[in-house]
Amino acid sequence: MSAAEDLRDLYRELILDHARKPRHFGKLANATHEAEGINPLCGDKLHLYLRIDDDASIADATFEGSGCAISVASASLLTDIVTGLETEVLDDLVDTITTRLSGKHKDKELDERLSKLRALEGVSEFPARVKCATLAWHALRSAIHNDKDAATTE
Ligand code: ZN
Repeated sequence: MSAAEDLRDLYRELILDHARKPRHFGKLANATHEAEGINPLCGDKLHLYLRIDDDASIADATFEGSGCAISVASASLLTDIVTGLETEVLDDLVDTITTRLSGKHKDKELDERLSKLRALEGVSEFPARVKCATLAWHALRSAIHNDKDAATTE
């Protein structure tokens, strides 16, 4: 088996692991920010909760909802990644990630924290799945900006 295939298997494992056992799953009782994300094309629906501290960093992030393996894995990875980050970096982060996942730009190196997202980058070959993978990140943007309307991929 080639190194590339090994890596693909590893990524598939990571996605399935997060889809089967999502991290930070459930409602966040003391959430300060929240948003809904809907991907009508696939039927993915999730609700993202954030607790943002006085120093404007994310103290906690959780999500609930249901959807395909990719949407759930992406949301699970998101909650892992954003915890501890300052909110002022999040807009850039969402841009970087949605651009990468849609395959528009990949040559920028990912830092250590984002390296797990490489597992999701395979979706860029499948436009319909890009919406599954980016759904949680659109919801993240809505949550930080306190948009009341659900973030939708359509
Ligand atoms: Zn989906």
